[in-house]
Amino acid sequence: MSAAPAIRIRDLVKRYAPAGKDAGEGKLALGGVSFDVPQGQIFGLLGPNGAGKSTIINTLAGLVMKTSGSVEIWGFDIDHEPRNAKASIGIVPQEIVFDPFFTPFEVLDIQAGLYGVPRAMRRSLELLQSVHLADKAHAYARSLSGGMKRRLLIAKAMVHTPPILVLDEPTAGVDVELRRLLWELVADLNSQGVTVVLTTHYLEEAEQLCDRIAIINHGQLITNQPTRDLVGMMREKIVVLTLDRAIDTAPQHSAFVKSVVSGERELRVTYNKDRTNAGEVLALVQALGYAIVDVSTDEADLEDVFVKLTSTPA
Ligand code: ADP
Repeated sequence: MSAAPAIRIRDLVKRYAPAGKDAGEGKLALGGVSFDVPQGQIFGLLGPNGAGKSTIINTLAGLVMKTSGSVEIWGFDIDHEPRNAKASIGIVPQEIVFDPFFTPFEVLDIQAGLYGVPRAMRRSLELLQSVHLADKAHAYARSLSGGMKRRLLIAKAMVHTPPILVLDEPTAGVDVELRRLLWELVADLNSQGVTVVLTTHYLEEAEQLCDRIAIINHGQLITNQPTRDLVGMMREKIVVLTLDRAIDTAPQHSAFVKSVVSGERELRVTYNKDRTNAGEVLALVQALGYAIVDVSTDEADLEDVFVKLTSTPA
C-alpha cells in the first residue's frame, strides 16, 4: 500500500474578487488545479511570475480563501479540520517581516507560543543551531543580515515541528552563496523526514533540489513528474536529415529514441545525447542504406522545455 500523500489538491479554483465586487467578475488565478505531494519528497512548484504559485501556497497557509475545490494537508481537509491541517504545515513566506526589537530566540519563542507549543517542548536553541544562527540567538533582529533573516524564517516555520515545510520563493534575489546554504538547509530538513514544497522560478534550483517538479502557468498545471524524467526529456536531441530521395517509412534503430518522416525527403531522428551523438546517428542512417544531403540539429534544454511548456497564450 502506498503512503497517503502529504498534500492532496483537487480541482482548486481561485478567483480574486475585485475591490467591492463579486468574485465572479474577478481574476481567475487558479483554473482547477489537481496534484499530490508525495510524503518525504522535495516537491518543486515551478512557473513564471503570475502563474498562480503563491495562490496555491497561500491557500495551504490559510491566507487565501479558495473559490472551490478541496485541499488536504497530512490527511486533514482544510475546510473540515483546519486546526489539524494548520498544525501539519510550516510556511516560510516570501516577505521578511520581523519586529526589529525581538531577538531570534524571542521570535521563535513567541511563534511557539502562538502555536500552543508547551514551554518544555520548545526547542528554540536547537532550531537556531540547525539554521546556523545559534550565535545570534540574543542579537536584535534588526542587526541580522538578509541571509540570516531568511534562515530565521525557516526556523520560525518549524517551531511546531510540522511534517511539511513550504517555502515560497526561498532564494528570490539572494546571492549564489546564500542560495547554496539555503539549499543545504532544505536538503538537511528533508533528510530528517520533512516533506518540502517550494516554489521557484529558477529552473536550476528545481533541478538541483527537487525529487519531483510540477509546472504551473496561467493557473493551470502543465506537467507534474519526477525531476529525472523531466530532465531526461531535456537530454533528447533531434537531427533533421535531408535524404537524396523520397521515403515512405522511417528507418528504425535501437539507438534512436524516435525516428519519423517529416517531409518528402526529410527524416527527424530523436536520440538521447547521453547514449549517442549526431555523428553516430548519421552513420547509422547511412549504414541502413540512405544517402544524406543535408543535416540540421534541434536541441531542447530545461530552459527551452520550460519556455515551450509555459508559452501557451492566456
Ligand atoms: P505567482 O506566485 O506564480 O507569481 P500569484 O499566485 O501571485 O502567482 O498570482 C496569480 C494571479 O493572480 C496573477 O495574475 C495575480 O495578478 C493574481 N493575484 C494574486 N493575488 C491577487 C489579489 N490579492 N487580488 C487580485 N489578483 C491577485
